[in-house]
Amino acid sequence: MRKPIVALVGRPNVGKSTLFNRLAGEPLAIVDDTPGTTRDRLMAEAEWNGRYFFIVDTGGIDPSTGGKEALSVGSADYIQQIRQQAELAIREADVVLFLTDAITGVTPADQEVAQILRRNQKIIEGKPHPPVLLVVNKADNQTFRSGAAEFYELGIGEPYPISALHGTGTGDLLDDLVAAFPSDTEEEEDDSVKIAIVGKPNVGKSSLLNRLVGEERAIVSPIAGTTRDAVDTKIVFEDIEITLIDTAGIRRRGKIEPGVEKYSVIRSMRAIERADVALLMIDATTGITAQDAHIAGYILEAQKSTVVLVNKWDAVEKDNFTMQNYTSRIRQELNFMDFVPILFISAKTGQRVDQVLPLALRVQEERLARLTTGQLNRILQNAQDAHHATSRTGKSLRIYYGTQVRSDPPTFLIYVNDPKLAHFTYLRYLENAIRKEYPFTGTPIRLVLKPRR
Ligand code: GDP
Ligand code: GDP
Repeated sequence: MRKPIVALVGRPNVGKSTLFNRLAGEPLAIVDDTPGTTRDRLMAEAEWNGRYFFIVDTGGIDPSTGGKEALSVGSADYIQQIRQQAELAIREADVVLFLTDAITGVTPADQEVAQILRRNQKIIEGKPHPPVLLVVNKADNQTFRSGAAEFYELGIGEPYPISALHGTGTGDLLDDLVAAFPSDTEEEEDDSVKIAIVGKPNVGKSSLLNRLVGEERAIVSPIAGTTRDAVDTKIVFEDIEITLIDTAGIRRRGKIEPGVEKYSVIRSMRAIERADVALLMIDATTGITAQDAHIAGYILEAQKSTVVLVNKWDAVEKDNFTMQNYTSRIRQELNFMDFVPILFISAKTGQRVDQVLPLALRVQEERLARLTTGQLNRILQNAQDAHHATSRTGKSLRIYYGTQVRSDPPTFLIYVNDPKLAHFTYLRYLENAIRKEYPFTGTPIRLVLKPRR
């Protein structure tokens, strides 16, 4: 089931990132201390009453780069940026949370945002779409909570007074948020392997797509996107049905000039969320940029499998060490993805393009792999014998027993004396021990620690 995307919009300082952090689940433990991933978290998975969804802090998105840029109040393009973020959210999110500030009351910038949101909503089945919930944050006490009625004047409907800082009022808000989710999130789901081609603009996504489709003559049908702004292309490769999800947007072959599509963070997230495997394309002529790291972060956050494709390899001057140097640089800069395979390709000349789908399918297979309980416990026992977890308090972690509770992605439940004693580095050590036996190439694995009753 596709997880809905909820965008937080509002002018700076209203409390978007405070609310984001309150709603966001813990980042995947194995990426916890990795610079560049958690620091710039723009998207996170959240859950309320068993419904999972993604939240996006549009305040962190610079629409021109897709990266995290602080918006400074009073800067020349301040209003312009808020406007773009509101437009982005209303175009691409499933539900918008519009944040305002009870302490300052209604401001002209709030009016501006409200107007953009209202103007850009579509009417679907008699209702404005996407739904917008008006949040009046910093309503820390009764006075502010009653004062929230003032915000009716924005014309967005009933205000929800909350305190993101103290957590009050968020329950009612989340109840109504979940109720506002579109029912079509249970759409699609055929059995094809879903592969998303993601990367910053101009990296060569549509060139690759055209090649993959061109080389596999057996096109079933290019189906109109089940999701807005996406066109899925179905192909059959070695008897396996594959859906290629094109994040570059609606673009029939040859119809639109390459490289002109506007980059959209939310569109990339949506494609990643629908995919089993993401092909993360990197431009060999520019190297890894912050934007690449962001996209890698979304893939990890969504716990999808990955193949890194270093494209435009034809345009790089090479000696015997270039590929090796490049590989270690990528591993270093995306160091949280050291289990991810890297392929050097040229969508232009076709070099190694024939290896892309076989590799993606292998990664998908590993995503579905299972270790037996016997195998896993042997690995855990050996790892523990070789290296005990130590702790400052003198109490140390004991591992009793583990079992793989699911695949897609592989998830291991491990019973211990006290999960709090498991330091990040020890979890990483256990992960590496598992991967040494069974690599789970390209696939994140999850270790869930539980105290033994
Ligand atoms: P953003 O720019 O919209 O992401 O806003 P931040 O989340 O960075 O919050 C701006 C400031 O408002 C910070 O100093 C927060 O501590 C403060 N803040 C956020 N939520 C609340 C709240 O519920 N009550 C109060 N009193 N302050 C809050
Ligand atoms: P997209 O924006 O990611 O879909 O990128 P495009 O596929 O539109 O490609 C952007 C530009 O890069 C175009 O001018 C392509 O011709 C060029 N390009 C794409 N792949 C390669 C490649 O492998 N080598 C070289 N030299 N150029 C490429």
